[in-house]
Amino acid sequence: MTSHTLQTLRKAIEHERRLFGRFVPLPDAPAASMPNRDLFGNAVDPSEDPSRPPSERITALIPDTPPYDDLKALNTLQEVEAFAANNVLIELDEMRENPVFGVGDPEADLVVIGEAPGRDEDKEGEPFVGRSGQLLDKIMEAINFKREDIYITNIMKSRPPRNRDPEADEVEAHIPILYKQIALIQPKIMLCVGKVAANTVLDRRSSLSSLRGKEHDFYGIPVMATYHPAALLRNPNWKRPTWEDVQLLRTRYDELTAD
Ligand code: URA
Repeated sequence: MTSHTLQTLRKAIEHERRLFGRFVPLPDAPAASMPNRDLFGNAVDPSEDPSRPPSERITALIPDTPPYDDLKALNTLQEVEAFAANNVLIELDEMRENPVFGVGDPEADLVVIGEAPGRDEDKEGEPFVGRSGQLLDKIMEAINFKREDIYITNIMKSRPPRNRDPEADEVEAHIPILYKQIALIQPKIMLCVGKVAANTVLDRRSSLSSLRGKEHDFYGIPVMATYHPAALLRNPNWKRPTWEDVQLLRTRYDELTAD
């Protein structure tokens, strides 16, 4: 660049400075906080907003349409239990002997989530009371949890006939109840037992072997997955990986609950 060119350029810059103060006016700095807005200023879905507490994010998953708008507004587990008992959301709700809502400490730091009630649970109105429930109790005792220290529930609150997997529309109808339970209990960590529970909660279509052994996230709550106790009764080879999973669960639980 010749000295003449440089001189011309300098003059042009000084002229621009006198006119505008700076060459390219910078956009105004973004406000220090733009809560619940994305980069483009659009409202962020509350469930996807990590600055909100998990309970708010999970409540935001509950539809605002009847009858779920009523569910969304409830404040206690007893009210949610009454909602589950008094509403016929799907055909299974008419066929059941009892709704199977959940059992345990309403302020538990650990929530265990299974798939759906079986025959024994339908009869008693309590989750995991049959053979697989007894095994679940043993697994939990092995890592020093009593049944009353934790909260146990299922994706489905009504028994599917012949213990078949729940259909997608049945899960869609019942899962808002689970969301409300989790939002009220506010656990520090959750354990999904079995592929159906884990894939439903995590919105995945994966094998249990790929879901287990690591920590996942459910709107700010850590989630782990392991084999369903009924699967362990059929296949004892899965006992060792389950033992590893629950030991990992206990370690994370202790970390998360240490004050
Ligand atoms: N299997 C489940 O997934 N839940 C129960 O409550 C009982 C058996």
